[in-house]
This record gives sequence, structure tokens and C-alpha cells, in this order.
Amino acid sequence: MIRISGLYKQFGQLEVLKGIDLEVEKGKVVVVIGPSGSGKTTMLRCLNVLETPTKGVISISGQSLDFSKEVPKKNIASFRRLTGMVFQNYNLFPHKTALENVMEGPVVVKGENKDTARKKAQTLLEKVGLGDKQDYYPAQLSGGQQQRVGIARALAMEPEVMLFDEPTSALDPELVGEVLKVMKDLAAEGMTMIVVTHEMRFAREAADEVIFMDQGVVVERNKPDVIFTNPKEERTRKFLNMIQ
Ligand code: ADP
Repeated sequence: MIRISGLYKQFGQLEVLKGIDLEVEKGKVVVVIGPSGSGKTTMLRCLNVLETPTKGVISISGQSLDFSKEVPKKNIASFRRLTGMVFQNYNLFPHKTALENVMEGPVVVKGENKDTARKKAQTLLEKVGLGDKQDYYPAQLSGGQQQRVGIARALAMEPEVMLFDEPTSALDPELVGEVLKVMKDLAAEGMTMIVVTHEMRFAREAADEVIFMDQGVVVERNKPDVIFTNPKEERTRKFLNMIQ
């Protein structure tokens, strides 16, 4: 479903991604862990083309972008629709209600009929447990509720893959569980997901595979029970010892 080959990203002199190769099968949940600054967010943002890779090829669901050549804007727009992104700080429109936030993409980007988009948005808000909050503005919702709106909004675009960039890092501890539950439900439904997170429990319980990144490369990739109990690489072991 996803194939990344030879992905590089440089910000000025700083080389942040140094040749990432990664494949993710349809329906799998991959959790990306690693020290701050190792390039996890940048890799996700490259998959969504929020950052333009310096070089490398990214393929999702048979669509491919090769960044060693000039990539036409229209290819980027259609490629971007393959992924739904959930951000650390929710990125909701503050002047729109939960319902309007979820409807916005389908209506504005996809040109969907408003009634259809509204019905779908209502269903999605119910799915994330916010059926009764559809007319609330972001400021009237808790962080956990806002993030669940963020997930519903990404799902409304019917992406092939969901990308989560530290979705619970900005939340008070008591609100983390409700967001992780929605993510686990999605995983159980067979959604293909890449999740950057510090929630090791989520990684243990929901990931098919865990990827450990350090200094712009994938150091180790393995099933969660192996990564957490018997990592192959010294760098992985050191990182896990530090955080656990
Ligand atoms: P992680 O998600 O693993 O913490 P990031 O991908 O956020 O790592 O960042 C990797 C490195 O790239 C960091 O050194 C960060 O400062 C740098 N970086 C990220 N985005 C930018 C940017 N837009 N401009 C310059 N440097 C950036």
C-alpha cells in the first residue's frame, strides 16, 4: 500500500532524512518511535507532501511521486488526498463548528454536495463519540474532543492511509485514552495507519510493527513484542531504556 524508497529531506544545510526505505502493507498499523529530532514528523509530512522531499520516491495505492524530478502540482494535489493527517495541535478551524470542520474538506476540496457531506460528517462525529457535539466550536470542546474532531475530519476525505503526528502529545493525561480508543477502533476496522507517538502502550497493543528512527534513518523495524523485549540494535535498546 505504501512504499518509500531512498527518501531524503534537507532543510538548508541540515539533512533530516537520510535515505528512508519503508513499506507498509494494506490494513497494517505502523508506529514510529525515536528521539526528538530524529525526523519522524518530517517523514510523515513528506508522505502527505506538506514537505517536499529533496529526493526519493513515494508510492501509495499505486500512485507514485518521484522527487528526483520536477513533480507537477496537480499530481501532488491528487496524491495528498490519499492520506489523512492528524496533527498534534488538532489544526481545527476555530470559527467553524465541529460539523463544519468535518464537512469543509469534502465540500471545498472534493466539491461534494453539502447535504451528503453533512450526513457523512454526522456519521463520522458519531463514530468518534461526538454525535452530541456537532454544533460546538473548538473552543467549547476539550482537547480530546477536538482531536477526535480532527480524526473525523481526516476520515471525511476517505483517505487510503491515516497519518497521525503525535496525536496525544498536547493532551492532558486523562484525555489521552479517549483518542487512543478511537485510533484502536480504526485500526481494528482495517485502516492502514502510520502513527508517530510516544505512547508505548498504544504501540504494544495496536501496532503490527514498530519502527525505531534515529538521526534520519530507520534503525530497526520489528513486531512490538520483539522491539520492546529484545531489540536487535543497541541504539533502540538505549532509547527504550531512557524512556521506560
Ligand atoms: P521528530 O519528529 O523526530 O522530533 P522532526 O522531523 O520534527 O523530528 O525534526 C527533525 C529535524 O528537522 C529537527 O532538527 C528539526 O529542527 C528540523 N526541522 C523540522 N522542520 C524544519 C523546518 N521546517 N525547517 C528547518 N528545520 C526543520
